[in-house]
Amino acid sequence: MPQTLSVIKADIGGYVGHSAMHPEVLDTGREELAKAVQSGLLIDAQAQACGDDLFLIMSHDHGADDEAVHRFAWDTFLAGTEVAKRLHLYGAGQDLLTDAFSGNIRGAGPGSAELELEERPSEPVIVFMGDKTSSGSFNLPFYKMFADPFNTAGLVISESLHAGFSFEVHDLKDHRKIMFNTPEELYDLLVFIGSPGRYAVKRVVTRSSGEVAAVSSTDKLSMIAGRYVGKDDPTAIVRCQGNFPAVGEVLEPFTTPYIVEGFMRGSHYGPWMPVGLAQAHPTRFDGPPRVVALGFQLADGKLVGPRDFFEDVSFDNARREANDVADFLRKHGPFEPHRMPLDEMEYTTMPAVAAKMASRWSEL
Ligand SMILES: [Mg+2]
Repeated sequence: MPQTLSVIKADIGGYVGHSAMHPEVLDTGREELAKAVQSGLLIDAQAQACGDDLFLIMSHDHGADDEAVHRFAWDTFLAGTEVAKRLHLYGAGQDLLTDAFSGNIRGAGPGSAELELEERPSEPVIVFMGDKTSSGSFNLPFYKMFADPFNTAGLVISESLHAGFSFEVHDLKDHRKIMFNTPEELYDLLVFIGSPGRYAVKRVVTRSSGEVAAVSSTDKLSMIAGRYVGKDDPTAIVRCQGNFPAVGEVLEPFTTPYIVEGFMRGSHYGPWMPVGLAQAHPTRFDGPPRVVALGFQLADGKLVGPRDFFEDVSFDNARREANDVADFLRKHGPFEPHRMPLDEMEYTTMPAVAAKMASRWSEL
């Protein structure tokens, strides 16, 4: 029977401010997951945190979009919100945008990435957890992993990867999707995914076998709520080895801290810093944005792990470069290109200030 790996995540309260998760909230997640494993809903599960976001990593055999699994995640976030309220944590329950669960977590605030797979004799997967950034931030890393032979040698020298990958791209504004085949449609693909604020890679598929290689969350909070309510802080799941890039090829894109949207108030560009769990606490200007990579071997659906990949010294240079880039960008203060462009400011004070000043403008 195919297994499903679901990562469902939400910011339900920060400690202190937006910097991290209080241990009691994380413990609540772990307790609820343990109950769900005991009841048989889940095969195995872990709760992990990156910054102020709680990530529920769940292995089960109910398929994607399963109502019982989604309801369980929603109820767990509600339980965590109660703890956050009792401790007066910052923004308790902020990502829970609807009053009641209505069958699916999508469109309700939390982000989700779900991957169905037939487990191989050895099944290495990596779960990425982002904070202080946005859906679409995995566009560039996914491009490097699955379409750039300078990153992924296997595209050239491995028979199982040589046929390339297909990218499912979502238009987050007009709610439509499209598939691109690489390598022959690389340039067409880049026209769209080079603009990650609007176009996000939802799924990558192996062309040789049709298996899903990677999924990411593309839920956009501001477009659900119609106002700024925090950043989307995306997650992604990537399968490795065999018909997929090697573990080292999946991690390689993060040796450069590419610039993503997010940072302070979700309204600035900043470098995406790869960190281990111990450093996943955005602090300086509520950032820089962070990404954690947790590796697991699946064993009949059990999560053997995690390996906390980015704590390794080989990512020290990326962290140093991220700090240098953050120093430089911060000097721009409220000016673009550190601050996001005007059309991204619609969820901030910009409309109110524009309305207040409207009568004071005169013709040139
Ligand atoms: Mg967050």
